[in-house]
Amino acid sequence: MNMKKYQVNNNGYYGEFGGAYIPEVLKPCIDELKQAYQQVLDEPNFQQEFHQLLRDYVGRPSPLYLAHRLSEKYGCKIYLKREDLNHTGAHKINNAIGQALLAKRMGKKHIIAETGAGQHGVATATVCTLMGLQCTIFMGQTDMARQRVNVEKMKMLGANVVPATSGSMTLNDAVNEALQYWCSHSEDTYYLIGSAVGPHPYPDMVARLQSVISEEIRKQLMEHEGRNYPDYLIACVGGGSNAAGTIYHYLDDERVKIVLAEGGGKGLDTNQTAATMLLGKTCVLHGSKTLVIQKENGEPEEAYSISPGLDYPGVGPLYAYLTQQQRVKVFAINDDEAIRAARQLTRLEGIIPALESSHALGALEKIHFKPTDTVVLTVSGRGDKDMETYLSYPL
Ligand SMILES: *Cc1c(COP(=O)(O)O)cnc(C)c1O
Repeated sequence: MNMKKYQVNNNGYYGEFGGAYIPEVLKPCIDELKQAYQQVLDEPNFQQEFHQLLRDYVGRPSPLYLAHRLSEKYGCKIYLKREDLNHTGAHKINNAIGQALLAKRMGKKHIIAETGAGQHGVATATVCTLMGLQCTIFMGQTDMARQRVNVEKMKMLGANVVPATSGSMTLNDAVNEALQYWCSHSEDTYYLIGSAVGPHPYPDMVARLQSVISEEIRKQLMEHEGRNYPDYLIACVGGGSNAAGTIYHYLDDERVKIVLAEGGGKGLDTNQTAATMLLGKTCVLHGSKTLVIQKENGEPEEAYSISPGLDYPGVGPLYAYLTQQQRVKVFAINDDEAIRAARQLTRLEGIIPALESSHALGALEKIHFKPTDTVVLTVSGRGDKDMETYLSYPL
């Protein structure tokens, strides 16, 4: 078995996917970043500072909780990896802290980031405040109107929120405007991408920073079960960062089945979906060759999911490769199914999950478990931000 099969290669590719398709002006920034991340991420003093903040500021390790009533319902043993208990309410803070530490070591004073629903914007603004860095967040104007509370949080934290007014004024446009800004301010600016997407080295860097999740799962399963691997890992995928963290240390372990849930939206046979892995075609989006849902003319389709963190038309290049290699089983979970799964978890376990995480929970219905199966499902975030949707959804 090739132990490195699913790791990025030296040129930034997972098989044919990935790479760094960027304008000429950004080449020096990406080269500088590539060198810095290769050097810094494994350094003991970086690791020490990173893990201390994860422990004292984020609250890690996050619990691995054996969900008794949920387990009974599905006839197997289901553990929940509780990223919802992290400071700021989701896994995104792990990556934001790691990249901000890297930015400081690179001598950058100004952090920029894109955000869709505002979760990555809030995590980034939080970390910038913590480290005394200037922070600018690009956010589609449409999204700003939809996610007022997160906009107010970012402002309260001291970030400058810039509305992206091109295109449909959503995440796709926020990324484009952040990249444009970076091109013209690359000297002092660090671009902190929030998921396992974008040009190399971002997908690998984000996966490695999030891999603390599977590092903890290994230890915690050993304590609970006396063996350090599960039969199933389940996570939701928008760009793929919480999933990358969940599966990172198990990718080459074929005993572990990997199940991924993407946003089915209104259904695969409608054009209101975010089912990138199931429906996407290969093309370049935001600097990376990956699977993208496309219109007939080949442009990226406007992705739709009820969950604000899953409605991205692309997906991290690692997932394009895992799908092609059939290393993963992918389910598109529709809005209805996600809402039902959220209500079920709330009533069985007293945990209100984020809408994104509810898609991972929705996948439980699709699998036939054996009584001896051990399952680890990552609850990527908490549902506070989604209360309006939960309350108003007609079901
Ligand atoms: C942003 C977000 C996601 C989706 O992003 P990934 O990079 O795919 O993890 C999932 N869950 C929550 C709670 C989020 O905030």
